[in-house]
Amino acid sequence: MDSNSGVVQTTCPYCGVGCGVLAETAPDGTLALRGDPDHPANHGKLCSKGSALGETLGLHHRLLEPMIGGRPARWDAALDRVASEFSSVIARHGPDAVGFYVSGQLLTEDYYVANKLMKGFIGSANIDTNSRLCMASSVAGHKRAFGEDVVPGLYEDFELADLVVLVGSNTAWCHPVLYQRLMSARRERGTRVVVIDPRTTATAAECDLHLPIRPGADVLLFNGLLAHLAASGSLDRDYIARHTEGFEEAIALAAADAGSLVHLAAGCDLDPAALRLFFELFAANARTVTVYSQGVNQSAHGTDKVNAILNCHLATGRIGKPGAGPFSVTGQPNAMGGREVGGLANQLAAHIGFEHPAGIDSVSRFWNAPNIARQPGLKAVELFEAVGAGRIKALWIMGTNPAVSMPDAGKVRAALRSCDFVVVSDVVATDTTRFADVLLPAAAWGEKDGTVTNSERRISRQRRFLPPPGAARPDWAIICDVACRMGFGDAFAFRSPAEIFREHAALSAFENEGRRRFDLGGLAGLTEDAYDALAPRSWPIHHADGAGAGRLFGDGGFPTPDGRARFIPVRHEGPALHVDDSYPIALNTGRMRDQWHTMTRTGHVPRLAAHAPEPVVDLHPADAARLDLAEGDLARLSSRYGFTRARVRITGDQRLGDAFLPMHWSGHFAASAAAGTLSAPITDPLSGQPELKHVPVRITRE
Ligand code: SF4
Repeated sequence: MDSNSGVVQTTCPYCGVGCGVLAETAPDGTLALRGDPDHPANHGKLCSKGSALGETLGLHHRLLEPMIGGRPARWDAALDRVASEFSSVIARHGPDAVGFYVSGQLLTEDYYVANKLMKGFIGSANIDTNSRLCMASSVAGHKRAFGEDVVPGLYEDFELADLVVLVGSNTAWCHPVLYQRLMSARRERGTRVVVIDPRTTATAAECDLHLPIRPGADVLLFNGLLAHLAASGSLDRDYIARHTEGFEEAIALAAADAGSLVHLAAGCDLDPAALRLFFELFAANARTVTVYSQGVNQSAHGTDKVNAILNCHLATGRIGKPGAGPFSVTGQPNAMGGREVGGLANQLAAHIGFEHPAGIDSVSRFWNAPNIARQPGLKAVELFEAVGAGRIKALWIMGTNPAVSMPDAGKVRAALRSCDFVVVSDVVATDTTRFADVLLPAAAWGEKDGTVTNSERRISRQRRFLPPPGAARPDWAIICDVACRMGFGDAFAFRSPAEIFREHAALSAFENEGRRRFDLGGLAGLTEDAYDALAPRSWPIHHADGAGAGRLFGDGGFPTPDGRARFIPVRHEGPALHVDDSYPIALNTGRMRDQWHTMTRTGHVPRLAAHAPEPVVDLHPADAARLDLAEGDLARLSSRYGFTRARVRITGDQRLGDAFLPMHWSGHFAASAAAGTLSAPITDPLSGQPELKHVPVRITRE
């Protein structure tokens, strides 16, 4: 904070763009928020959600005091109860009988201590995050190709590229400020933009070429692209020979999978001429960035989709170079930070996986951990299935709303109802807090300090500019207090988020010797003042006084044992579930422009709600006619997993046979529960990410 001006530099709590925000308190106490012109992610811009942040700071639905069994309690009693219940379950049933379900909304310091407690001291890896629903397929794809979960590029590559391919990403609505940067570059230098998306979204409506692909055909499309690049002499043979392994197997499978252009176009349900144009654009533009998001990740074959894209970039050597590279954009503000500290059940910490026994030993030594986990834990869908089956007997949910957002949400609610002991720490009352045996009030955005990492590996500070209301406390402090009561006080005696960050940075460098790209060793000695003043910078960060890193892999070196990237042969499989006579429509789900997640923050802002005041299902005109539905009808949507209701909108933006429903609404904001109730708990076998983009449904007039 600049104490002279009363201006605090912080970071937006919504999407993975990670925009800088200035919070200014006037002498009369009024607060004004605006974009930070000095933040490299947004240069002062904010989208509709970020601009309305100031209207979300009220006490609407805030949790202000701990509750035990629905009755107000003192912090000491609540923390004692959580520690004793968890200790008791562990003593009777073992460490794998407990679980944590955390959130990409948490700050890195919160995430770090939660992960350390579960994986180092309780001795289970049953901690997973709602980021599993967001980008786990990208993590798995990166690890297969690069040897580590690394996004090679920077946002400025969007502005330096001659061609930007957006796959499964309504960037205009879901990463708006990044999209504005792309559109500015397009106006200034004529960047060509291709959108690959089944829907004609706001992003698709403005691009040079829209490919309204058959849902789930992404692997086929990118296999076709790889085959075209080979056939047209567009490969970088020198790069392939010097820096990669496995090309021959990958191209053989890709060519066989794709077949002729006519066959490929039929498989993708695309115009062959449009498909050829895309291939020619990709082949001709060395400066190409391919951006992928939830349309790729949220799939039963999401990891293969990611690797099909990465194969094309490796084959052309377009990686880690100005204006060239594959680029995963994350949904949440700190999905990346969670990945760094081990918020995923299959990662230990500091980008060390469970497949490396020496790495596990290294973390164990660093933490002086009495009971380090040595096997991956349960991923999100598995975790809630284990709760429902009674194998998880104590669950702590932090900062997320799985009763609405998880697939097969009705079954998740039943699982929570049946669980012996549920703790929820959150900022506001949600559909999930209803299931809490102990409810812990957490400090909200603007009330606590810490760091987040955005989609370009840039670590930024979130800073406090308000006092927490009532008895609310930062998540890291709550977790450490429980850890101390469980007998792990020596390892959780942190007095500030800066202390936690220093340990996190030191762990990232411990016995690393450059083997992992994730390294914050240069920040391991930060003083409290230096932490307070920490400017945004991208990792790796080897020196305290140095700037953050730029692009990675530009030198062709990868963090694999032999330093080479891997081509992954992939075959088109299509969606896991198919439409039939009973459930004839394929339902896609996603975000609206002005809402965030399950609306627990944005849902209370009238001007944001005005954009879409109620849940609406988009239908193609011919489908609406076939189903005897008219514009504005109230429809009932049923799948094999549950049902919900939404108002009908008829639009040519939908493909015939497909429908779209926003993910946001819940029992709090609409007459019935939401999209998660309909979705199948079917996951990618590698990433564990659920298929949220394709569920067969029946739609009838209510
Ligand atoms: Fe916040 Fe994302 Fe909007 Fe930036 S683009 S203001 S990070 S929601």
